[in-house]
Amino acid sequence: MIKLGLVGWPLSHSKSPQLHRAAFKAAGLDGDYDLFPIESSNSNGLVDILDGVRSGMLTGINVTIPYKQTVIGLVDELSISAQSIGAVNTIYQRHGKLIGDNTDAQGFLADLRSQVSDLSTRSNGAIVIGAGGAARAVIWALAEVVESIIVAARNLEKGQRLSSSLSTTLTRRCRLSTILMEAKSLDSIPEQVDLIINTTPVGMYPDLQSSPWPASVAFPKSCFIYDLVYNPAKTKLMEQAKKQGINSANGVGMLVEQAALAFELWTGQPAHRDVMLSAISQTAEHF
Ligand code: NAP
Repeated sequence: MIKLGLVGWPLSHSKSPQLHRAAFKAAGLDGDYDLFPIESSNSNGLVDILDGVRSGMLTGINVTIPYKQTVIGLVDELSISAQSIGAVNTIYQRHGKLIGDNTDAQGFLADLRSQVSDLSTRSNGAIVIGAGGAARAVIWALAEVVESIIVAARNLEKGQRLSSSLSTTLTRRCRLSTILMEAKSLDSIPEQVDLIINTTPVGMYPDLQSSPWPASVAFPKSCFIYDLVYNPAKTKLMEQAKKQGINSANGVGMLVEQAALAFELWTGQPAHRDVMLSAISQTAEHF
């Protein structure tokens, strides 16, 4: 039996068990996916779970907040993406070594490509709102397809630190700059910005009436908006976009894609993304 799981805290809202159990069933594999909630006061808990992967009791694990950085020092090798982004969300064993990988970046880009069919020809510049862990993965991935990225952060210094540390790891030339996330700075963003990505939790259930984008600022005319938040399915930011005739997507596709990529690393079998998506879509909104 293939045993997988998710380590983090808190985990009560995680959709990962549904996603992976559906993937096992669709692939005809005997496997299960459990939650391993570990409070930060439990100093041995994380190491014990990693030992489970080393010994083969667990085939692999996902890692989420607050351990995405902590596990870097506990694995034997990092994939290029995990090393560049500075965060691990997937761990597996190869030839006796624990490998830390990151499927968020590839998962985001795969879903963005499926949402924006003319991505390769239209993408001149992007704004990434937020400067946390998800922003790092998104920027690293986006740099493959856009010429410039503006990081809009509520903490300018944090945004600048993120831009300068990531700029040395990009696989392709892409200009990174940082602005303060406020109406005054956004008012002067260039019209050729054609992607806006929200990587903050603003607008996530139960904060339904909040948007990271100020109501007083118009979106660039031909932009596409991608909100990493997927609960609710239609965020306030997406509603603002619709009112201005702008297309948008939520982050459920990224959620499925990053899980599917991890499933494939662990099992070597193709993941049935459509089945995984319908498994979580059946769950009521505001889960
Ligand atoms: P994180 O590391 O805590 O970063 C959150 C970022 O948002 C930080 O830069 C934070 O600013 C900023 N922020 C928080 N509240 C804000 C507010 N009220 N106004 C402006 N900025 C604010 O979290 P994360 O891991 O990056 O996750 C961020 C969101 O992405 C979460 O909602 C998560 O569920 C979602 N996510 C979705 C997927 C997916 O597959 N769809 C994958 C990963 C993450 P400071 O730095 O100043 O604190």
